[in-house]
Amino acid sequence: MPPSPQKSGSGIHIGRVFGIPIYLHTSWFIIFALITLSLSQQFRSQHPQWTNAQHWWLGIITSLFFFGSVLFHELSHSVIAKHYHIPVKSITLFVFGGLAQISRDPDNAKQEINIAIAGPISSLFLAGCFWLIEQYAHGGEMVIAAAKWLALINLLLALFNLVPGFPLDGGRILRGIVWGITKNFARSTSIAARAGQVFAFFMIIFGAWQALTGRWIEGLWTAFIGWFLLSAAQESFMQVAFRDGLVGVKAVDIMSKDIPTVARDISIEEYFQEVLRTGRRCHIVTGAGTPVGLITLQSTRSIPREEWNSTSIQAAMMPVSRIHWASPEEPALGVLQRMQSEDVNQMPVISDGNIVGIIARDTILRVLQTRLQLHHLSGQ
Ligand SMILES: [Zn+2]
Repeated sequence: MPPSPQKSGSGIHIGRVFGIPIYLHTSWFIIFALITLSLSQQFRSQHPQWTNAQHWWLGIITSLFFFGSVLFHELSHSVIAKHYHIPVKSITLFVFGGLAQISRDPDNAKQEINIAIAGPISSLFLAGCFWLIEQYAHGGEMVIAAAKWLALINLLLALFNLVPGFPLDGGRILRGIVWGITKNFARSTSIAARAGQVFAFFMIIFGAWQALTGRWIEGLWTAFIGWFLLSAAQESFMQVAFRDGLVGVKAVDIMSKDIPTVARDISIEEYFQEVLRTGRRCHIVTGAGTPVGLITLQSTRSIPREEWNSTSIQAAMMPVSRIHWASPEEPALGVLQRMQSEDVNQMPVISDGNIVGIIARDTILRVLQTRLQLHHLSGQ
């Protein structure tokens, strides 16, 4: 599966490889159980002479090797990304395989292609290794059975990921190629995402056909993966539209110059009344005319309600030294990304030590929405 800049790591933390935290999503346990079950049945029908315990144990061990293979695939994307100094936040194993979360898009087409192609190459490499084990593990019947399946599944993993539609690795390679030729990142993403949507639709239709011709489980499964790919392709399409909508917009263009202030000697209760009266949820706290901190309605929640009367807002404010701030010339998209990663809704804009404006996260989204609508109206 593809490296993705979306979402943060979730699930159970199982360890670190090359400094990258590895997570198991809860959906992983379902697929692990299903694969183990189906492998045990397969081994039972192929080797009825083995004991029940042998079927089960080999099923479990082969499943673990399969997930090890998926992890190896994701790690290979991650290692190349890190080589280009693109940080990898986490790797999560979930129902459809793995997801390496790289923190940003690559800088150029060559990086994109190399990061993407590392995955299928690593799966092909594993397929070759397991094939060699199958060929040369004389006498080890159980080893041969497991290696045979692992060689096939890694080959399928490589081929499936090479389908040239976003968000699969092949879609990223396609994007890299189109990007290299056209020098247009947005256009290449849109082409790769369209190809991904076509492939996803094809999988959903094929799955429905399988289900209608009596192969219920395979059909549902195929359609389900198709549906997952479709939503992922649409999401990447949206992200680029989003990025495009904010091109050329700077912090100074979207900040509000009207900066509400409160004096630092008022109580939290008084501040709360001020918020109720004015509807403003974020204020600069001043002492002797200079800013000393930032207070928001949200930050008052750290103080119990019954202490609001007797507590100064200084106890709840964020002191100036810890405020995340933007400079007026900073690109709006970068500001939005920082607000998301630092989980703040307001960010003051500071120029030469003075607070010159304030940016709210919803303002950026409104600007974006308006620009996208205008873009749409002008028929571009
Ligand atoms: Zn991949």
